[in-house]
Amino acid sequence: MDTGLDYAEIRDAVARICAGYPGAYWRDLEKDAAYPTAFVQALTDSGFLAALIPEEYGGAGLPLRAAAVILETIHASGASASACHAQMYIMGTLLRHGSDAQKTRYLPEIAAGSLRLQAFGVTEPSTGSDTTRLKTRAVRQGDRYVVTGQKVWTSRALQSDLMLLLARTTPIDEVKRKSEGLSVFLVDLTAAAGAGLEIKPLPAMINHNTTEVFMDGLELPLDALVGEEGQGFRYILDGMNAERILLSGEAVGDARYFLRRATEYAKEREVFGRPIGQNQGIAFPLAQALAQTEAADLMARKAAALFDIGEACGPEANMAKLLTSEAAWAAAEACFQAFGGFAFAREYDIERKWRETRLFRTAPISTNMVLAYLAQHVLGLPRSY
Ligand SMILES: Cc1cc2nc3c(=O)[nH]c(=O)nc-3n(C[C@H](O)[C@H](O)[C@H](O)COP(=O)(O)OP(=O)(O)OC[C@H]3O[C@@H](n4cnc5c(N)ncnc54)[C@H](O)[C@@H]3O)c2cc1C
Repeated sequence: MDTGLDYAEIRDAVARICAGYPGAYWRDLEKDAAYPTAFVQALTDSGFLAALIPEEYGGAGLPLRAAAVILETIHASGASASACHAQMYIMGTLLRHGSDAQKTRYLPEIAAGSLRLQAFGVTEPSTGSDTTRLKTRAVRQGDRYVVTGQKVWTSRALQSDLMLLLARTTPIDEVKRKSEGLSVFLVDLTAAAGAGLEIKPLPAMINHNTTEVFMDGLELPLDALVGEEGQGFRYILDGMNAERILLSGEAVGDARYFLRRATEYAKEREVFGRPIGQNQGIAFPLAQALAQTEAADLMARKAAALFDIGEACGPEANMAKLLTSEAAWAAAEACFQAFGGFAFAREYDIERKWRETRLFRTAPISTNMVLAYLAQHVLGLPRSY
């Protein structure tokens, strides 16, 4: 569905890289829950992972929409950006709120790929979506912070050099609003490993390199704090619109992958003496998913356009995330059904992508929480929680 696609040169270049990493590459990795090191290295070498880092720090300084196109193309090709996409949006917190010293120290190395900022420690096992009630504490003791707590679903912590950590610095009963008193830290994972920090892999339905992170008396230097103490939740929220827009690109890419694979197959596969695509039971769900995908893509483009001119885009970013994840799921289901029993055969890659695209309805924010946001902040309905 190539109508009106923007950034044609970026799409071509990214697609060429992805062509070197076909389905067999991803299937082999999954057997060992391995990290796609070669793929991430190729993307790093091409400069695409540093798309959003300003040129003064060695990146390409491209708009968010261009980064979303990069991720969309990766997913449309059948690959997955999940191993490295976080760098694009985590870096924004450092860029917008970090000190000059932090930016000069880290951003050029991140842009060059010699330092990986891929891990984002927000979610906790006991508090889940209720982020402001998270329990990890960072207590200032003289010239350091001492951190104790636990994170869950911290993706790529074992493959990252740095982790952006959200922890409470002022107890919740001592702040006026529960969103205050949280702070963001940049944790040097290499220095922290075995010195108050332990990371355990968390095997999951998809190869997402997720982990649990345990912190017990982890000492952080004062200059690990990003921005002002107590303002961390605001900083994280700032980055979330970017994250939602970027992941909307991935979901659109997934939808396009499923539509392409399903239509190719539905034209070729003949049963009862005719191509299965001639049956409206196969064709209509695909046509419906196409319409959903194109509409969702428009909302994602609107959100990115607002973001790129510095306008507020919370409703659009959330609607883009909601609509693209639903479109991807509709396309995945229609494709899965079109492939019949072969959808289950690993070598077709449909079941892998189907499992992977299901994540967008749950993370980084689940569908219900998006709907709750829209109901409360856009429609003005009473807060439900
Ligand atoms: C593969 C994977 C990778 C992830 N990577 C990261 C990562 O790198 N860093 C990170 O910090 N987190 C990560 N996450 C965590 C993810 O963001 C959370 O799983 C997600 O935000 C939901 O939190 P939860 O699992 O605790 O669900 P819960 O908060 O327990 O919610 C469970 C269900 O109840 C619903 N629900 C809860 N409260 C309400 C309400 N008030 N109204 C309506 N419905 C409600 C939710 O929508 C959800 O469907 C990852 C998760 C997965 C699965």
